[in-house]
Amino acid sequence: EVKGRGKGHYRFYRPEMNANLLARLQLDHALRQGLRAQQFVLHYQPRIDLHNGQMRSCEALLRWQHPERGLVLPGEFIGVAEETGFIVALGDWVLEQAVRQAAAWQDAGTPCPVAVNLSALQFHPGGLVMRVQQLLSTYGLQAHLLELELTESILIEDADEALARMQELRALGVRLSLDDFGTGYSSLGYLKRFPLQQIKIDRSFIATMHSDAVDAAIVTSIIQLARALKMEVVAEGVELEEQRQHLRELGCDQYQGFLCSRAVPASEFHACWLQPR
Ligand code: C2E
Ligand code: MG
Ligand code: MG
Ligand code: MG
Repeated sequence: EVKGRGKGHYRFYRPEMNANLLARLQLDHALRQGLRAQQFVLHYQPRIDLHNGQMRSCEALLRWQHPERGLVLPGEFIGVAEETGFIVALGDWVLEQAVRQAAAWQDAGTPCPVAVNLSALQFHPGGLVMRVQQLLSTYGLQAHLLELELTESILIEDADEALARMQELRALGVRLSLDDFGTGYSSLGYLKRFPLQQIKIDRSFIATMHSDAVDAAIVTSIIQLARALKMEVVAEGVELEEQRQHLRELGCDQYQGFLCSRAVPASEFHACWLQPR
């Protein structure tokens, strides 16, 4: 790192930085190739009703089946895909794949709502609403079987535009969910402006709620807030029976987590959760 002219000006000549940039460019290239080579796949994680133990819906989670590296999780590539903008094409593939799968389950007589994660880059440019409408009609999927998971950053970046887009999606009949709640910066009062049907409590609060009184208080408050706003509340990352028990006592509606199941391939999801038993 070499200091440039004057305070606050830096020029970067660190070789490790170039290596890092190169690695990101290589990853971007590999991702684009991977999409063409059909190396991406969606896995589905069940969401369970805490009141009666029944499976209610699922979340589609992206995986990359890399020929040498094996199954690669989104944490290793979503960041770069957002940085380069490739997430727009990749996210469109996810959306179509999820709608196609949800329609197949619907048509097989085993309907199951499918939730899809949207990146802010997918949400802002025009075209998303028309694309969703087009996919629903192409695959003949009932709109209420598609749920879109948004993050707080989407709501904050341009609140007026986000609100307008959400109202259009709601008009189609699609459900809207706020993911990773509690990790962003949106104020609580902000929430009531948006037509959300569901809030998901971030995994970080669930992980420590049995050992950290402050996190337990945060979880309690989010559940109360969601109830006051007439929104469904889902806890993510439930790994322990004591967490599930506590969440049920607090009045949380649903949970997702390894306690019940990891995300699994579509065929396995169908066999385990959608076959009449
Ligand atoms: P997310 O949307 O909050 O998804 C939940 C993540 O928590 C998933 O990780 C899931 O496998 C994991 N998880 C679920 N239950 C447990 C548990 O009990 N314990 C632990 N430790 N983890 C649990 P995954 O699949 O690695 O995805 C990570 C993130 O990548 C997602 O977080 C989401 O933000 C993003 N992502 C995944 N798929 C997509 C996609 O199709 N599009 C976009 N834009 N982002 C995606
Ligand atoms: Mg999610
Ligand atoms: Mg989440
Ligand atoms: Mg998360």
